[in-house]
Amino acid sequence: MQRRQHKLLGYNIDLFNMDEAINYVNKLVDSSSSSHIVTINPEIIEYANKHEDFAKILNEAELVIPDGIGIKIGLKINGINVERITGIGFAWKLIENSAKNNIPIALVGAKPSVIEKVQATLKEVFPDVNIVYAHDGYFKENSELHEDLISSCPKILFVAMGAPKQEEFIYELKTILPSTVMIGIGGSFDVWSGEVKRAPEIWQKLGLEWLYRTIKQPERFKRIFPTLPIFVYNVIKEKLTKKG
Ligand code: UDP
Repeated sequence: MQRRQHKLLGYNIDLFNMDEAINYVNKLVDSSSSSHIVTINPEIIEYANKHEDFAKILNEAELVIPDGIGIKIGLKINGINVERITGIGFAWKLIENSAKNNIPIALVGAKPSVIEKVQATLKEVFPDVNIVYAHDGYFKENSELHEDLISSCPKILFVAMGAPKQEEFIYELKTILPSTVMIGIGGSFDVWSGEVKRAPEIWQKLGLEWLYRTIKQPERFKRIFPTLPIFVYNVIKEKLTKKG
């Protein structure tokens, strides 16, 4: 299965739909090296533009999922229609798939009370899920966690610590864990534990979850604006420049 990608503002984005992306992860799970899945959005790209090391992490990822609505708009401007795959939705499907195929998983991130609740929820929803390791995202020493992860041998590791922290953590682990697929999933554990509510389905369907979250948590406003309009502007500029 070949990757089909499009480069947006210098960053490769995979154009798989949900089922293809899950199949691709199954291939990564079977491979003999570790890999990194990034769920990309305009905020991540803006950060990468200002931090070269982070841009390198994105460009070396084995799979880049078009998460943010801004990415879908950016691809559309370039004549590409993709199914938007939210990080949280993709991670949920991966867990379902792991439970079905007995793939051992690990969870790292969020507050201690949240990670406890997430484990209970996942075991309730997917009785066959095999969680070999779980830890909150507020640790001081990486090395102890690394040791624990090496000895528990997860095939998929879900890291919910927000970007860029989770991507940097995963990038470091890529050279330490022999064969684990790792994905950064931001605030997903908060949602799965019930700590934070997702937007009602209609908002999700319209691709307006970001707006709902911004209304509910106004402090997010400065993260989204002016990032989203500037991103769209830059995509249009890139397209016009390419055309000459
Ligand atoms: N978090 C963490 N360790 C940290 C900082 C944050 O585990 O050092 C967790 C935090 O508890 C929350 C998540 O990372 O569960 C970040 O959520 P946010 O909604 O900011 O991420 P987004 O989905 O917007 O990327």
